[in-house]
Amino acid sequence: MISVEIEPHSGFCGGVIRAITTAEDFLSKGDGRLWSLGAIVHNEEELARLGQKGLGTIDHDGLSGLGGSDTVLIRAHGEPPQTYARLQEAGLRIIDCTCPVVLKLQREVKEAAERSRVVIFGKIGHPEVLGLVGQTGGRALVAETPEQLREAFAGGVLGTGEPVELFSQTTMSPEGYRELAEVLRRLAGPDVVVHQSICAQVASRHKELAEFARTHDVIIFVSGASSSNGKVLFEWCRSINPRSHRIASHADLQPSWFLGATSAGVCGATSTPKWLLDLVARRIPEL
Ligand code: SF4
Repeated sequence: MISVEIEPHSGFCGGVIRAITTAEDFLSKGDGRLWSLGAIVHNEEELARLGQKGLGTIDHDGLSGLGGSDTVLIRAHGEPPQTYARLQEAGLRIIDCTCPVVLKLQREVKEAAERSRVVIFGKIGHPEVLGLVGQTGGRALVAETPEQLREAFAGGVLGTGEPVELFSQTTMSPEGYRELAEVLRRLAGPDVVVHQSICAQVASRHKELAEFARTHDVIIFVSGASSSNGKVLFEWCRSINPRSHRIASHADLQPSWFLGATSAGVCGATSTPKWLLDLVARRIPEL
């Protein structure tokens, strides 16, 4: 019989819990429609659960179809200043669930942009990154890889000797950030300030997951396909334990993954609900 353990720190981070709890509180009062601007969490199963309670998801283009009885929820990733201006102009009610950690980062990025060139280590087009770039009036450079940074210097987008301040999207890998910071220091010269802006909850998960992945025969990583944090954490697990598999739900489990295994570890991203981890852990011994 295989033993199955759920990684105790896996599950929603504080920012996601806050946004979902706020949405559920609002919906329980029956005070008009609530629309999340973008998916409130990058997990399709949890979105379906909240959708049944009445939470709608809308994109920026859809905002023009909303009216006075609608409320728009800004999710934990945050938004650029122009989104707030647009919502206010349209007379829409706003529930701002920007994570306090992201709000602090937005403030720091805004201040840094007044004195230096800002570089953000993040996923190009990710909503949190768009919110950060918005604080700089669109002037920040976003780089996901050292190669993109080298191209920016080669193309004259960034210049050697220019004062630069580097920030990271909150859910990026600490190892990737260290590597990018080293490359930036080599290219830009001495006037580089590196801010430690990876969320503490994400950074500690890297350490905890490394130990967890090492001590189980098979790792099942549960996360939605669109979760950037899920992609980073899964690759981290797989680099430590090659028998790591990423799934979106218990229906994706394959019996062949567990051949000869005596232990399985179940873990997930900051956007993976605890109830889904429980469901997956219960299903494994039945395969
Ligand atoms: S990962 Fe950290 S910064 Fe991002 S929403 Fe969660 S708690 Fe906030």
